[in-house]
Amino acid sequence: MSDNHPLSLPIFKEITEIADSLGVRAYVVGGYVRDYYLHRPSTDIDVVVVGSGIEVAKILGRRLKTKVSIFKTFGTAMLHDREGREIEFVGARKESYSPDSRKPAVEEGTIEDDQLRRDFTINALAWSLNSDSYGELLDSFGGMEDLEELIIRTPTDPDVTFSDDPLRMIRGVRFATQLGFDLDSETFDAIVRNKERIAIVSKERIATELHKIVASPAPSIGFDLLSKTGLLQHIFPELEALRGVEVRNGKAHKDNFVHTLKVLDNVAKKSDNLWLRWAALLHDIAKPRTKAFDNKVGWSFHGHEVVGSKMIPEIFRRLRLPLNEHMKYVRKLVFLHLRPIILSEDEVTDSAVRRLLFEAGDDVEDLMTLCEADITSGIDSKVQRYLRNFALVRVKMKEIEEKDRVRNFQPPITGEIIMQTYGLEPCAQVGEIKAIIKEAILDGKIPNEYDAAFGLMEQIAAERGLKKAIDK
Ligand code: ATP
Ligand code: MG
Repeated sequence: MSDNHPLSLPIFKEITEIADSLGVRAYVVGGYVRDYYLHRPSTDIDVVVVGSGIEVAKILGRRLKTKVSIFKTFGTAMLHDREGREIEFVGARKESYSPDSRKPAVEEGTIEDDQLRRDFTINALAWSLNSDSYGELLDSFGGMEDLEELIIRTPTDPDVTFSDDPLRMIRGVRFATQLGFDLDSETFDAIVRNKERIAIVSKERIATELHKIVASPAPSIGFDLLSKTGLLQHIFPELEALRGVEVRNGKAHKDNFVHTLKVLDNVAKKSDNLWLRWAALLHDIAKPRTKAFDNKVGWSFHGHEVVGSKMIPEIFRRLRLPLNEHMKYVRKLVFLHLRPIILSEDEVTDSAVRRLLFEAGDDVEDLMTLCEADITSGIDSKVQRYLRNFALVRVKMKEIEEKDRVRNFQPPITGEIIMQTYGLEPCAQVGEIKAIIKEAILDGKIPNEYDAAFGLMEQIAAERGLKKAIDK
């Protein structure tokens, strides 16, 4: 065992001593072993004990003087070692499932039984921890070969694996996406056959997997697989509805599913911001609902950014994504996603840039990233023109922000000031005056300063025949 092999960590030696003295077999199993061979960082360690995992954990906890969390119903125990690694102990088990639940009946089993109940061969690798066979690899189902060939495959009949726990179908897609692996063809076909069973899995568990797909280096792999297996139709039909090309009078529109996935990958190359990636996935979500054909102009998706932004809260609620500021951020980016491109099609005026800064606020950089990613046209000269104009928009944004500070703009004249100055009660007039001042600032007619705004207020008031309270 070389010094930098994880099994040379002192924590494993402790487990060895405990298992040997109790006369039970212990193994490291699952993701930790897999990630070692894939050179991926991994901190969660799963230990399987043929016997009582809780017993081993309790003794280790006493030795490390640390708290052990025990989950009696699951037969598992968890503790953190001195370096903060999370170690979970479980007794080797054999599982049997009833058709309507993900929760199995559990009985004690051998290490092979335990490996067999795992989702994929690459997740069923185990290292022995007992001193007579320390570090020996138990690979009962060809996991090493699949690791080398970059294949996701179930350790047993995939129809059984997936029907027992349908969440595994999405986990399979997720691992393929995270690791850049392929789904074995029999595994793939079994997902297609069992896709309807995804209905018994909780939305929260699915959301966790979707997040991991979105956070992967090339998230398109996952959504493409979800679509091809038919899972997407069940878990996220609005996204599946983007698929396809319609042709009328010889005019075709682009496949919005393919386009969306390209935009998502483009954003993923630029940013790890999970919610910006979700915004990319959802930016054209209303295209199917707004699609129209006209003989002169061809296909259009008029107002899809407005309709799309209105769909966001409902989609977040149904997918069990958080209904907090992250949702509002995605809704805002979907709403604004056409603005920079419209702006850069024309002459880039100061006032248009100022308005964009005002509406996007601190998220304006993210909005620009999304818009640049949105340019997937095959025509090179068109792409170059847009990107050049975007560069110009960015320069102007910087200039104007330095000069006018409109990003988190609060008009310098409040309703309160207007009411006090003219002795008014809250009324429509106050709102109107405030709006005229705001527009004047955004249009660059007056600077974003108190004195200038106050002057304009006086001018409007005079036109409307309002008298100052002190003069009354
Ligand atoms: P990650 O931590 O990146 O999600 P992982 O493989 O460690 O990947 P965990 O959810 O931490 O996944 O689970 C640890 C191990 O438990 C897995 O490697 C696998 O052997 C097993 N496992 C987890 N969930 C399931 C499941 N639904 N069905 C079968 N085995 C599972
Ligand atoms: Mg894990």
